[in-house]
Order: sequence, then structure tokens, then C-alpha cells
Amino acid sequence: MFSLIIPVYNEEGLIEELVARSVKALESFTTNYEILFVNDGSVDSTLRKLIEARKQYPRIKIVDLSRNFGHQAAFTAGLEMALGNYVAMMDGDLQDPPELLAEMYRMINEDGFDIVSGKRQGRKGKRLRVATNLFHAFFKKVSGIEDMENSGNFSVMNRSAVNAIVQMKETIRYLPGLRSFIGFRQGYVEYIREARLEGEPKMTLGKLIVLGADAIFSFSKFPIKVCLFLGTIGTIVFFIAGIYALVGKILGFALFGWSSTVLSIYFLGSIQLIFLGVVGEYVYRIYKESQNRPIYLVKKFYDADAE
Ligand code: UDP
Ligand code: MG
Repeated sequence: MFSLIIPVYNEEGLIEELVARSVKALESFTTNYEILFVNDGSVDSTLRKLIEARKQYPRIKIVDLSRNFGHQAAFTAGLEMALGNYVAMMDGDLQDPPELLAEMYRMINEDGFDIVSGKRQGRKGKRLRVATNLFHAFFKKVSGIEDMENSGNFSVMNRSAVNAIVQMKETIRYLPGLRSFIGFRQGYVEYIREARLEGEPKMTLGKLIVLGADAIFSFSKFPIKVCLFLGTIGTIVFFIAGIYALVGKILGFALFGWSSTVLSIYFLGSIQLIFLGVVGEYVYRIYKESQNRPIYLVKKFYDADAE
């Protein structure tokens, strides 16, 4: 069976086209599939439209989460509930073309890949293009995870790869990172990312920044390295300044006045605040993980047996 996971959050305007295109794309290469819509706490008529679509396409299942948990959690819910030997993750706004799934499936089946991800060659939506590209280049550099530049959630995996990802229970999740982290044989298809079909992006700038920070903190030592670097520079500078002050005192030319004192207090103070912030981020993350709360909560699962 082939499982297609699609998280949706307030996407009422595009459910019909999304369902029609996904079903058509899947049926071009298999008759044995399920589409797992994860409704991530939508407050519009998304759920109603999905229930409606189920009447026409009984292979649609709906995981209705108890509130908005964010799209990484929604994908995780789908990964844990998918029954297929092949599992695909796809955004619900048709920025990732479902028509590409056939080729991704073929590459796993015939070319021996375990995971095939979509690599974005270009983007039609203007929003944050430069920032996103920069982030991916930066993330690739600091995380040391090769070859994942410009691939997001859009991907198809076989059962072994899905089982590996599902084993990782960390609460703060960045799935493209986890997908690379597990190894296996990874392949890529290049595609142009379309503009969103309809409506506003549901990943607000704030949510994107949090996601980026989660990625960096989970997959690199970058924040620690920056602190160590700044701390070392500071130590060297103040060591030299200290010697200068001492020698000046002894030889009698010490004329350290207001500026140097105030500057060093500011410099030290701000560096220490940044360090405290970074340490705080780590403590927060340790705390979050140790709470061990579920990543998502399901209100209702509409599968084949649901009324
Ligand atoms: N999404 C979600 N929960 C959220 C935010 C987004 O399930 O809290 C879904 C959204 O409905 C869409 C997908 O995740 O299907 C990607 O969201 P969006 O298009 O806003 O992200 P972007 O294209 O900016 O990465
Ligand atoms: Mg989008």
C-alpha cells in the first residue's frame, strides 16, 4: 500500500482540487493507496470538506488533531498512523506537485533508493525565497548534513526508513533533518516549487523562525561554537588590555578613563546576556524533551470503519 500524508490547517479553499489532483496522481501508478489528511486544528470548514470528500473517495482517511500542533507534528502523526510500505509527505497547498509522486515511487521501486525527496530548483512564490535559500545553505554548512540543501518535507520513503524516523521520539522535530540523519540510500528529484494555489501561507514568519531555530539547535553545535568563539576573542582582547593596564600602572602612563571602562562593561555585559540566552535555549529544550509529552493528540480518526 502507498500512503500519502497531507497536513492541512485552514485550507478550505483548496481541498477539492487537492483531493482531485492527489487521487488522480496516485491512481496513475497504484490502486492500493490511502490518503491520510491530518487536520491540524483548522477553525474553518476544512474538516467538513474532508468528510465530504471521503464519501466520494473512500480511500481518504482523516486524522483530526485536538488542536493546532504545527505541521511537523501533523506530519509525525501521519507517519505514525500510515499503513503503507511506501509513505509520502506532501504539503497541502499544491506547492509540491502530486504528479511527481509517480517518479519518486518508481525510483524507490526500481532504482533501489529508500528515500526520494524533492529538491527545489526554483520557486514561483516570491515569499521569503532569498531567506529560505540562505537558511538551507547555512543549515547544510553548520549541520554537516550533506546534500539536503533545498529539500523540504516533500518526499517518499519505504517502510524501513519510516520505521527509523518514527523511532525518534524527540518532541522538538525537524523532519527534513531527521530524514537525512537516518542514513539509508537517498535520492532526489528536482522540481520547481509552484506558488501556493490559494489563500495565505499557514506557516507564518514567526512559525518559520521557530522551525529554523529548532533545526539549528537540534542538528548542530553552532550556537555553542559562536559562544566559545566570542568568549575566546573577548578573553584575548581583555588579556592584552589587562597587561597594558598593568604595565601602564607600573610605568605610570595609565590613563584609562571613562570610555574604556564603560565600553568593557557594556561588551562583557552583552556577551554574557547572549550566552545566558543560548544556555537558556538549551535548558528549555532539555526541559521540553524531559516532559515527554505526546507530540500530537488525536481527537478522532476517520478511517474505513468510521461511520
Ligand atoms: N500547516 C499545518 N499546520 C500549521 C501550519 C501549516 O498543518 O500550523 C500545513 C498547511 O496547511 C500546508 C502545509 O502545512 O498544507 C505547509 O504550510 P504552508 O504552505 O503555510 O508553508 P510554506 O509553504 O510556507 O512552507
Ligand atoms: Mg506552502
